[in-house]
Amino acid sequence: MRNAGLGGWPARRALMSPDRTAFVFGDQAITYAQAYERTTGLAHRLRAAGVGPGDRVAYLGPNHLAFAETMFAVHLLGAIFVPLNFRLAAPELAYMIDHSGAGVLVHAPEHAAAVASLPVTRIAADAPHTSGEGAEPIDVPVTLDDPALILYTSGTTGRPKGAVLTHGNLVWNTFNLLANVDVTSEEVTLVSAPLFHVAALNQTLLPTFLKGGRSVIMPSWDVERCYDLITGHRVTWMFGVTTMFAGFARSPRWPGADLSSLRLLMAGGAPVPPWLIRAYQERGLTFSQGYGMTETAPGATFLEPAMSARKAGSAGVPVFFSRVRVARPDLTDAAPGEPGEVLIHGPNVTPGYWNDPAATRAAFGAGGWFRSGDIGAFDADGHLHIMDRAKDMYISGGENVYPAEVEAVLTEHPAVAEAAVIGVPDDTWGEVGRAIVVLVPGATAGAGELVAFLRERLAAYKVPRSFVWAGELPRTSSGKIVKPELRAAYADGRE
Ligand code: ATP
Ligand code: MG
Repeated sequence: MRNAGLGGWPARRALMSPDRTAFVFGDQAITYAQAYERTTGLAHRLRAAGVGPGDRVAYLGPNHLAFAETMFAVHLLGAIFVPLNFRLAAPELAYMIDHSGAGVLVHAPEHAAAVASLPVTRIAADAPHTSGEGAEPIDVPVTLDDPALILYTSGTTGRPKGAVLTHGNLVWNTFNLLANVDVTSEEVTLVSAPLFHVAALNQTLLPTFLKGGRSVIMPSWDVERCYDLITGHRVTWMFGVTTMFAGFARSPRWPGADLSSLRLLMAGGAPVPPWLIRAYQERGLTFSQGYGMTETAPGATFLEPAMSARKAGSAGVPVFFSRVRVARPDLTDAAPGEPGEVLIHGPNVTPGYWNDPAATRAAFGAGGWFRSGDIGAFDADGHLHIMDRAKDMYISGGENVYPAEVEAVLTEHPAVAEAAVIGVPDDTWGEVGRAIVVLVPGATAGAGELVAFLRERLAAYKVPRSFVWAGELPRTSSGKIVKPELRAAYADGRE
């Protein structure tokens, strides 16, 4: 075994724990020995399609066993795996194929029509696996500095950027995760978030695989199915974004379901409001959160589960092998409690964006540290608090307002299901807040009532001056509110 990267993982696991279950998908259970055999077979198929070291192989489809197997097969060949968001429209997919230079696209059968005109070799992800496909080992050597993934960012602030993650980035992120979460070979991990985003793959599937545990792969997010899988497979932990955990806690099954197998629920990817943390803690569940981004593979900070009650709302402390700073605009360190931009340095940080030197230069413009674009502050105990993205902050009468803080309070109101706040131009104050509110079905609350509710809990300058009622909020497939879309729709009028 010469492969220093992820391509070597299935072979090693097949030697160490051949009979343990690696993946559960629907009624299929795949052992580590089978996963290695299937991965090798797929690597032969990809090689026959012309894939060699450094080539890009794209993948399009919902969560599936084939996602994990294709990724390891691509890595056995020393090639680069490029997972795509299957919710994107044809021109967006065409852009990513072109930008990544992928020559081969493995796709789910239901996406055959969407990819028919793309200039790539197409391989159906459901083609039946035949054991005669090629059992002869393939093991193209890679180093930890070789790219393993091109992972497109969520596109919350603009066009998704193709972050390169090396084998080393993934290995170090896995170590960082294992230093925080006691993943063992007994783990039953629910892979519930989309695998084409960084968190489901790197924070759950990879650490579980490395430790020889079992990943239960859920095709797409569905609250009912989530309850069924947790109770049916005695799931021990899962990762979810805020919207997933909010839906889970609002289900009628929440009070009565047997959730005793769950030892950890890990949230991240977006601000986690205090009411959500309380709901899980009151249910007796360990609910913690991490902060990170595609470019940091993704873990940058993690809140130790044992600290989650004491430090509820904090994103935790820097992960084991990385450094995190909060910097002023002149790049000096901010004092405890003083907000500044969060900067990250460490072996989990991307070497840069694929084929985009200008974006790479801008991202590393702070003395080689990666610029997150997020505003945060360390407290006196060294715990990081994320306020919001710099791009979403607005200034009202000279005071910085972080919409995430206002949204967290608004969603505490029992009539409010979801809320987003944007800054809009104002002649007197420069900018003032406008809230876009989705009410709980059947509930009513007027602007006056919400203003009174907010005034009891927040400084006056943070309270939005106008309210818009909406049926839903635009979200990315990783559950984040798309603020640029809201600003385009609602930030026009001066009132
Ligand atoms: P794009 O970079 O394309 O605009 P994106 O930044 O949403 O999209 P991701 O890499 O998926 O793409 O998300 C990372 C971002 O998510 C972080 O920079 C931060 O703004 C937000 N985030 C992640 N975890 C947390 C958290 N625990 N609390 C608050 N915000 C978080
Ligand atoms: Mg980003």
